[in-house]
Amino acid sequence: MVYKACRKCRKILEDNDSEGKETVKECPICGHNTFTTFWKGNALVIDPENSEIAKVMDIKTPGRYALRLSR
Ligand SMILES: [Zn+2]
Repeated sequence: MVYKACRKCRKILEDNDSEGKETVKECPICGHNTFTTFWKGNALVIDPENSEIAKVMDIKTPGRYALRLSR
């Protein structure tokens, strides 16, 4: 399984089918279509309404997010 992060909202997405092809073409959260596989750190947001990290990062949807994109 390959993971990549949306460049706009930083959501981390799983990307790979059984043949190793790219399967995620656009972000299911924000619809952006550029991604990076290089980032530093990640945060699991379970309850965006009550999460300080989610407020700082402006996250509205639960999931795992990259803290900082490197490329
Ligand atoms: Zn996104």
